[in-house]
Amino acid sequence: MKTAEITSTGNELLQGEVLNTNASYIAEELTRKGITILCHTTVGDDIVALGSALERAIERADLIIVTGGLGPTRDDITRKAVALSCQKKLILDETAFSHIKETYHCRHMEMPTSNVRQAMIPEGATLIPNKTGTAPGFSLKHDNKEIICLPGVPGEMRQMFQEWVLPHIQETAVIGIVTAHRKLHVFGLPEALVGEKIEHLMAPESNPMAGTMVHEGIITLRITAEAREEAQARTLLDKAEEEIRQLLGEAVFGRDEETLEEVVADLLKKHKKTIAIAESCTGGLVGDLLTNVPGISQHLLEDVVTYTIKSKADLIGIPEELLRKTGVVNPETARAMAIAIRNKTGSDIALSITGVAGPTSPHPREPVGLVYIALATKEGVEHKEFHFSGSRRWIKLLAAKNALDMVRLKLLKM
Ligand code: ATP
Ligand code: MG
Repeated sequence: MKTAEITSTGNELLQGEVLNTNASYIAEELTRKGITILCHTTVGDDIVALGSALERAIERADLIIVTGGLGPTRDDITRKAVALSCQKKLILDETAFSHIKETYHCRHMEMPTSNVRQAMIPEGATLIPNKTGTAPGFSLKHDNKEIICLPGVPGEMRQMFQEWVLPHIQETAVIGIVTAHRKLHVFGLPEALVGEKIEHLMAPESNPMAGTMVHEGIITLRITAEAREEAQARTLLDKAEEEIRQLLGEAVFGRDEETLEEVVADLLKKHKKTIAIAESCTGGLVGDLLTNVPGISQHLLEDVVTYTIKSKADLIGIPEELLRKTGVVNPETARAMAIAIRNKTGSDIALSITGVAGPTSPHPREPVGLVYIALATKEGVEHKEFHFSGSRRWIKLLAAKNALDMVRLKLLKM
């Protein structure tokens, strides 16, 4: 088995009401087994549409996995569509029927007669037991191809996939190509520049091959390697990772499921350092992110939200009147905030953020998106100026992530 196609059925999927999580789950699992996914198709609860989708799928793929439409109601058309496409009769499967009857019996309920539909499977098909629901699945061989039908309920589908489909694929796999994946997370470089630096790894014929995804200001490189054995695929990934780290340097901050805040927390732990934060426009977001990490209480001493001018004046010790005149979104305020929170708490590192999250700005000299982030340590204080654009939420998020990244880069040098 080399190639597969995933067919999902249900009007709710077609109309966008329910997210097609089954297709992404199956695609990920099959890819991991070295099977190439050729196509995802979604059709409504429509026997003609499913029939033609199946015919096209049978033409191009070795394995077709269908989810949904195995229930007992009229709109559950998968059994019929598969039987028609493969010119098979639907016959009553006694094992499936007794399982359904048994399920009702255990629930002390009478079985509606329409449930018998769920025990009808195409002639010659193999039953796939469903431990948690009534709808069994089945697998049917046709023209050297295989069609596997599973229920739509994600929990039932996943259990049957793990317990029946995966071992079955292992047994029947023709070629043993293993695919391994790794993710590397990058911060602080434009996506286009990352793309230019690793262009050779993004070519379709490259093995390993890298692709980029961007989420909340973080660029994730997804690297895929193919080999005959898992260990070889991992070696290829290791080499690609090393090369990417060399090309992108310190901008690469993490791997796989690691988050920026976890990496910062790990570095604080590794270097035995403490941090204190004074936040203005981010309203506590940096503290929120950092406190997602268990054990941070050993390192995060304090996070104050100095939102008003008065609150900043109290922290910094500069008269409110003067701050009102000079404004608070400037390097001097950011630096003074970092120094003040460090003096107050005695932390190794102090971080401060002041900026304009928008959507409007009270002063022309402080445009929306202007943010200053300062870091104070015993060596002194430094700051960076940022010009973000976007919604209020987006500016806050970018400010918080950039603040965390400044702390990360500082810790790497400590
Ligand atoms: P049932 O016996 O429950 O009718 P079924 O095999 O007929 O099972 P569906 O009726 O198609 O499955 O779907 C059952 C539930 O699973 C619905 O809530 C549906 O929204 C959800 N579901 C179906 N397909 C998917 C999918 N591809 N991804 C995520 N959820 C799905
Ligand atoms: Mg149904």
